Amino acid sequence: MKTLVWVEHDSGSIKDATLSAVTAAAKLGEVHLVVAGKDVGAVGEAAAKIAGVGKVHVADADVYDHVLPEAVAPLIVELMGHHDAFVAPATANGKNIAPRVAALLDVMQVSDILSVEDEKTFTRPIYAGNAIATVKSSDSKLVVTVRGTAFEKAAREGGSGEVEAVGAGGAAVGSSFVGAEISKSERPELTSAKVIVSGGRALGASDKFHEVIDPLADKLGAAVGASRAAVDAGYAPNDYQVGQTGKIVAPEVYVAVGISGAIQHLAGMKDSKTIIAINKDEDAPIFQVADIGLVGDLFKLVPELTSKL
Ligand code: FAD
Repeated sequence: MKTLVWVEHDSGSIKDATLSAVTAAAKLGEVHLVVAGKDVGAVGEAAAKIAGVGKVHVADADVYDHVLPEAVAPLIVELMGHHDAFVAPATANGKNIAPRVAALLDVMQVSDILSVEDEKTFTRPIYAGNAIATVKSSDSKLVVTVRGTAFEKAAREGGSGEVEAVGAGGAAVGSSFVGAEISKSERPELTSAKVIVSGGRALGASDKFHEVIDPLADKLGAAVGASRAAVDAGYAPNDYQVGQTGKIVAPEVYVAVGISGAIQHLAGMKDSKTIIAINKDEDAPIFQVADIGLVGDLFKLVPELTSKL
């Protein structure tokens, strides 16, 4: 089976989620990659070095800048003429492109897989991760998105893929890029951070959120996350949200501060290796998944903890 993995990148480096998608694709068969973007020659070279990769299709043209799915999907559909499976990381961009590819190929998408059982059979979470379904595709071509935390990352070095330029497609019909406001941060990226400190509704205000959470995150070299309640209340930006409708994370250490542990939040972080919960309510559901629990007022405990680190 020949698989085609979409490479997520920021025009300079390849995102970790791609490496997990490569590992999943390798369980299906031969791994080819597609790099689309503007001035992405170096990304294509880096992609060819990923362990286990065969061919790397590089589509370098203005039309692929900003990864509009309306432009990228037709390119992938064309490449799917000689591939059996399209594999994308289940990131915001991957989830934007894959359904369009599936629709154009007229096949069902298998979303957010956790494991590859055989060439057509996968497991995936349902009911916010409370049940795991085993699903089998009967389509001739597969379209699959991969949960990054469920697969080891393929090594960035060690491969010797062959780079091949592919033609520039037409215009992105129906949409155009207007602008992007990207929050800049010195902190590690949430989905690849080894340590995450997340704050919840209990923080009460944006300034309090940053006053309490940021120093602890700084001491731990951690990324900062938040519950949806904290994001909805404007205490933290949208891209901090962890959970069913936010980011799925599985760091070495996850510190949940003033977060109750609703199932939708747990769906995004319960695979973390060690969970530390700080909450004044000893019956809060977060303590059912926590390895270490601190019961008390976060406004007292967190600064105390930070000062002792
Ligand atoms: P709360 O549930 O209000 O909990 C606050 C906690 O802080 C309480 O446990 C309280 O005891 C504690 N506390 C209060 N004061 C202090 C103090 N001084 N010191 C210590 N502890 C204190 N939520 C997500 O997080 N991510 C998602 O992706 C997500 N997706 C959703 C999707 C759907 C379809 C739905 C319906 C909901 C979703 N939610 C999601 C919302 C979720 O159900 C909860 O409402 C949310 O997670 C609650 O956030 P919280 O824990 O910060 O707030």
